[in-house]
This record gives sequence, C-alpha cells and structure tokens, in this order.
Amino acid sequence: MSTYSRLPVTFERGEGTWLWDTRGNKYLDALSGIAVCGLGHAHPAVSAALCEQAGRLIHTSNLYGVALQERLADALTDVAGMDRAFFCNSGAESVEAAIKLARLYGHQRQIAQPAIIVAEKSFHGRTLATLSATGNRKVQAGFEPLVQGFIRVPYNDIEALHAVARNSPQVVAVLVEPIQGEGGINIPSDDYLKSIRELCDQHGWLMMLDEIQTGMGRTGRWFAYQHHDLYPDVISVAKGLANGVPIGACLARGAAANVYQPGNHGSTFGGNPLACSAALAVITTMRTERLVERAAGLGQRLLDGLRAALAGCDLVADIRGRGLMIGIELTRPSTHLPSVGLERGILFSMQSEKVIRLLPPLIISDIEADEIVSRIATLVREEAARAA
Ligand SMILES: *Cc1c(COP(=O)(O)O)cnc(C)c1O
Repeated sequence: MSTYSRLPVTFERGEGTWLWDTRGNKYLDALSGIAVCGLGHAHPAVSAALCEQAGRLIHTSNLYGVALQERLADALTDVAGMDRAFFCNSGAESVEAAIKLARLYGHQRQIAQPAIIVAEKSFHGRTLATLSATGNRKVQAGFEPLVQGFIRVPYNDIEALHAVARNSPQVVAVLVEPIQGEGGINIPSDDYLKSIRELCDQHGWLMMLDEIQTGMGRTGRWFAYQHHDLYPDVISVAKGLANGVPIGACLARGAAANVYQPGNHGSTFGGNPLACSAALAVITTMRTERLVERAAGLGQRLLDGLRAALAGCDLVADIRGRGLMIGIELTRPSTHLPSVGLERGILFSMQSEKVIRLLPPLIISDIEADEIVSRIATLVREEAARAA
C-alpha cells in the first residue's frame, strides 16, 4: 500500500557505515535505518548469532520457557538499571505495553478512568493507542476517534505538569521521550527529567520513558535517562536493540515490575529465540567494544566538527545533540535535502521540515565521522548559497 513516500533508491548490500545501491553507488549511512543499525550493516557478530540460532531453533511460543529470552532479560535489565522485561516486536508495541501497564496500575489503585500525561511534538508509534499518545496532528488525522485517557502538555514545561497535578486526580503516569527524536532532536533542560521524577514520587505516578530512539547507547549512555541521577519506573526499548531484527521491550522497575500478571498481556512472536539471539549479540558486542563510551566521544567530535564547519552559515539556526543523536536546525523548511544527500552519497533525514537529523552507527571510525561532517557541511553551504 502507499504508506510511504520513498526516495528513489534501493540498497542491496551493506558493510559497516556503508551501503551500496542496485546500481553500485556507495553511500555513507548517517541514519542507521533510523537509529536501528547501531553496529552498522552486516556486523559479523550479529550475522553469526542469527545463522547459528536459525539452524537450532527459531520459535517455540511463550506457552513454554524460552532460555534466550531469560538471558536477554537479564542482560537488558542489567544495562538499563531495571528489574523485569516484557518482549514484543516493535517500538509501538513496547509503548502499548507501557500504556496498558499504567492503566492496570491505575485500576489496581481504584482509579476508574486512568489518564497518562504526554507531551506536544512527541512520537510514540502508529497503533491506535500510541498515535493517540503522539503529539503530532499529522499522525492522528483521519484515525479518529482517538484512544481516550491522555492529557497533553508542552514538552520541557514542568509548570504545565504541576498544573495538571493540581487539577487531574485521575493521572497515573507521565510518558515522555528523554530527547524528542521525530519531533526534531528536542533536548529538554537539564533538570526536566529530575523534576518529572519528583512530581511522580509526590503523586504516586509512574515515570515512563520512551527510549526507543535514545536507548541502546545512542546518546553516549546505555539509556538517555542515565545522564541524570534518577531511575524511571518504565522504559520502552526497540530500534537499536537487535540491529534490525524486529524486537521491542517494555522494562519496569520496583512496583511497576509486578503490575502485569499472567493473562494481562502477551505476544506470539515477542522474545522468540531468533530475535533474542541477535539482541544478545548486540549487547555483548557493545560491551566488549565499549561502543557506548565511543558514542559519547564520537558525538562530541561530530558536534565540534559541524559547528566549526558551519560557523557563520546563515542557513543554520542551531546545532545540537547528545552522543550520536544530532540535529542541525535550519532557518527554513528544507524537506528536499535528503534527496540532495542521496546525490552526494550520504543518508540522513529531515524532521519537522527544518531539522537535519543524524543518527550514524555507533561503530563509525573517526575518519568516517569527519567524512559525515564534510559532506553535510558542503551540502548545507551549497543550499545556503543557492537561496542567497
Ligand atoms: C520509532 C519510534 C517509535 C515507534 O517504533 P516502531 O518500531 O516504528 O513502532 C516510538 N517512539 C519513538 C521515540 C520512536 O523513535
């Protein structure tokens, strides 16, 4: 179906940070399949784990024990600082699991109409509940009636949360992205998450973070909340978890970890041996190659490089980022730029029409990082010259 407006290119092979199209052209991948292929393309550890597991056992069912799922739950909750995991197959499903968990938590506390606070400009997925939670009318338009039970506030506005706290006794949770990805790499002020944590503690709300884009080392920590001195109650994980093999996870801590009971939720494919083998290979590789620390250093290199290369360019309004999640905000809508990038052999996306989003793999070399800077800076400066 016509669900996507695709760029006119098809890739047939990848290696590390590079992709080759069907005509043999080579591209520098500064998007990683939208923060999915953190280990780059055709990573040998992931390929080997998948081949080995495919020859042994792909799927049984959650009617039975799944040893690899248990191992992944241990590894993932360990790096995420959480207690328990539920596995599904996508980001939207991991947020869906969090939303259902929050409602169940509310009902267990005799709140008949539980509500979840969500933010403007957020993105949480395309299922009915997650598009209802999403703060973007384009995602919702045409799919009304929306799912009820969400209260929307401006992002990075703690006062707005206090106002809801005063007026809405049915609130059971706050759901936000630690950095908004689809919304244009919006980084909240340093004390935002801490203030949400305090408010949640005060009112008995669950603090739920959508770490689907920010998680798995992307921002220079395993999870973006780890830049702050706190723990959330619930985290949604997907995208980078298995380097492209579909899997998602809803992680929970403390009281939130014991809300679901047998029969409350489930998934046929969720956490099957094949997907879990890939995710375990990702976590092991990220640990042994110290890729999370590397993402922090590379991110700073990219930010410094971009700021130097684009200094004084009047098309550039702001350059911001954390780790390998970087946005270059332009002064005017420039949605055609990804297709210009294709001609220059570099992949990235535009968010909110004005923000060039870079999400390169965590395995890029310093030389590749510098090459991203030079290709992006050239492209932006040419664009600036064209308009002048
Ligand atoms: C991509 C994304 C989702 C949706 O994930 P899908 O796997 O496409 O369902 C949800 N939240 C955030 C923050 C995302 O970046």
